[in-house]
Amino acid sequence: MIAPTGSFYSGGAVLLVLTLLGFGAFMWRAVFLVRLLRLGKPEARLDHPWRRFRDELVIYLGQRKLLTRPYYVRGLGHALIFWGFLVITYGSADLLLRGILGLHMPGTESGVYAWSLDLFAVAVLASIIVAFVRRALVRPPHMHIAREGYVILALIGVLMLTLLVFEYAGIAAGKVVAGGTRPPLAGLIPDVFPGESSGVVFYWAWWAHVTTILVFAAYLPHTKHLHIVTTLPNVFFRKQTPRGQLSLIEDIESQETFGAASLKDFSWKQLLDGYTCTECGRCSDNCPALAVGKPLDPQKIVLDIRDQLVREGAKLLADPNATVTSPAHWGETKPEELWACTTCAACVEACPVTIEHIDKIVDMRRTLTLMEGATPPEAQRAMTNIERAGNPWGNSRDSRGEWAEGLAIPTFAERPDAEYLYFVGCAGSYDRRNQKVARALAAILRAAGVSFAILGTAETCTGDPARRLGNEYLYQTQAEQNIATFGAHGVKKVITSCPHCFNTIANEYPQLGGNYEVTHALPLVQKLIAEKRITLTKGADEIVAYHDPCYLGRHNGIYDQPRAVLDAIPGVERKEIAPHHRERGFCCGAGGGRMWMEERMGQRVNHRRVEQLVMANTGATKVASGCPYCLIMLDEGVGAKGVQEQITPVDVLELVAARLETPATLTTTAGGS
Ligand code: SF4
Ligand code: SF4
Repeated sequence: MIAPTGSFYSGGAVLLVLTLLGFGAFMWRAVFLVRLLRLGKPEARLDHPWRRFRDELVIYLGQRKLLTRPYYVRGLGHALIFWGFLVITYGSADLLLRGILGLHMPGTESGVYAWSLDLFAVAVLASIIVAFVRRALVRPPHMHIAREGYVILALIGVLMLTLLVFEYAGIAAGKVVAGGTRPPLAGLIPDVFPGESSGVVFYWAWWAHVTTILVFAAYLPHTKHLHIVTTLPNVFFRKQTPRGQLSLIEDIESQETFGAASLKDFSWKQLLDGYTCTECGRCSDNCPALAVGKPLDPQKIVLDIRDQLVREGAKLLADPNATVTSPAHWGETKPEELWACTTCAACVEACPVTIEHIDKIVDMRRTLTLMEGATPPEAQRAMTNIERAGNPWGNSRDSRGEWAEGLAIPTFAERPDAEYLYFVGCAGSYDRRNQKVARALAAILRAAGVSFAILGTAETCTGDPARRLGNEYLYQTQAEQNIATFGAHGVKKVITSCPHCFNTIANEYPQLGGNYEVTHALPLVQKLIAEKRITLTKGADEIVAYHDPCYLGRHNGIYDQPRAVLDAIPGVERKEIAPHHRERGFCCGAGGGRMWMEERMGQRVNHRRVEQLVMANTGATKVASGCPYCLIMLDEGVGAKGVQEQITPVDVLELVAARLETPATLTTTAGGS
């Protein structure tokens, strides 16, 4: 890069002082922020190191999460600023080094670097103008638009302009270092600074540029744009365990506090998330609870923790025993915000900087539930039912296997050599609509000759709703009971027709020592079809829209298999509920324990989902899903919206069972081969 010549030119001492001031101010603030992070609980985040390096390449450098539907244009603008920033930061280091010591960064005199720098300077400048206009005129609904954002944009704009001007004038003034590449774009423009003036323009533009770098460095850690620095570690330390796995409270009997009762109960990584939030609002754009007017905004959840840390953290640094506000009560409506979450992971999926919202929400719910007994009464009733009867409806344990009566489906006690346990779950066992789905799966498995058995009355709730409602204690007792039962029967492989059961047994039981090969029914059925173990006959032509269950799709990445099953059914034409499908699927509203809570504020989430279905105008006469909760919610939704004559909610398994070429006789044969 072009710089004043000489190994230690006359302004070097001034530049050294300014650099020390600029970066000194940065470090002063950075040390304070790191000390605040250290208030958080320890948490090991060094597992899977290679995956972490891959994430740095793909998510951090490649900006993959930024460039997603529907943010391609906006994402590209931001990515250009980011990539340009990396190139220009390297050049800035060169400028300072050259100005102070006469040294330079390797490669900065090469043609490749000269071209990159110039092209990115122009691209960043263009992106800054677009970002400025968007903020000022378009004002995206959930993006935080504060004055500091304009200041940062202005500083970046000044950096780019001064860079281009001093390069341009520097060429005219003959300042290109021997052997260095002339800045290519600047070199294309004819000289407009006559005579001596080019040297003067170069001199002042150069100083303006380096001074802006130092002002930027000092200002950055006081703003949300700190994410420029913290995204790097935040991506590196992101969760590498399954998305659907909540943290385990170990040795729960001997714990005295639960969840995030205090700021110090969040882990350092949860606190780092706050520093990294870009306030882009993508999480909020995609939150179903916020969309229907519930008092929940995932962006606010993250920012509230950050703001509380910055405001009250100093107090804790001075006195570790100081009393600070419980994060679950940081604001009057905080508990309502927390209870409104369906744990659908739309926010986690959308966040470009890998912030983990659900874990924080559940940690605060743990405090409300286990320490304050402040769970909403209807959710408390569901938990009492789980504790007493092993299911949230409170139906008798003895009737758990009644759905299978007369079907000659063996229990594991009767068929200990069965290859698979079909874990039916509470909805399949007790809810009349979902009992039909359980029967459909049994018919498919039998037709395919799959060896399976059920637990019958020995099965109890997986504990999923209790865990997501913050009652880790109840979850662990349910899970341990099931794990003991599985162990007693030597269960190795588990099939579920419920994504919540699937997620809990596959991703969370291993935390308690329960390791099984777990599959949701739809990927298994896809395999059975592909292996021609079941053949489907053509029925009447019908159009079927597919609704992605959150715990199948976003939590476990199962998007393609259910679609492949629908595509394999002769006569079925599959449709998407665009644009709310796959990763952007809209929750049915039942996850996170919401199934058992009243919806007092805003519209019901399932009603909005049915509206989306109708507005997608797919021509579908059925909407198919792979989740008992979704089925219940969609059923209620189409009824409430009065469209039950046009569209019928079904489970994909029911569609398959209805087209089996040789329907299995469930009443005479024992379960499977
Ligand atoms: S998990 Fe879903 S409901 Fe909860 S905050 Fe995130 S987007 Fe909203
Ligand atoms: S949490 Fe993530 S998605 Fe939400 S505003 Fe912050 S950076 Fe954007």
